[in-house]
Amino acid sequence: MKILQRYWGLVVLLLLVAAWWNGNAGPELLYLFSAGVVIWSLLQAPAWCGAATRKRGTFCRNNSYGLLLGCHIREHRWQKFKLLFYSRRWAEFSRGTWATPSAKLATVSGIVGTASAIATGIKDFALS
Ligand SMILES: [Zn+2]
Repeated sequence: MKILQRYWGLVVLLLLVAAWWNGNAGPELLYLFSAGVVIWSLLQAPAWCGAATRKRGTFCRNNSYGLLLGCHIREHRWQKFKLLFYSRRWAEFSRGTWATPSAKLATVSGIVGTASAIATGIKDFALS
């Protein structure tokens, strides 16, 4: 069940879509699924490290977990962490994370999860 271990976020994403589709799911459930999807994409999804290497124009292709974390090289983790705080560097940040099909899935899932959490918040607010 290794594949499930790596891709559990996609299962949660399906549950999230199903919950929205169904329309009867409470906000707690939607928040929970949204959070699960976002956490997976940021911290667990299989992706490339994507940190810039010393050679200009190339980036690290080590496997990493999640879009937020780098590979086993500690310097790369710092580098990615720092990139988050410079919006000009987001292109650089996303270059590596967008490089593989699974990374694209992770990025899209993260966006969907975030959008869903916001939509749940609005819906929750409007109904109360
Ligand atoms: Zn790296």
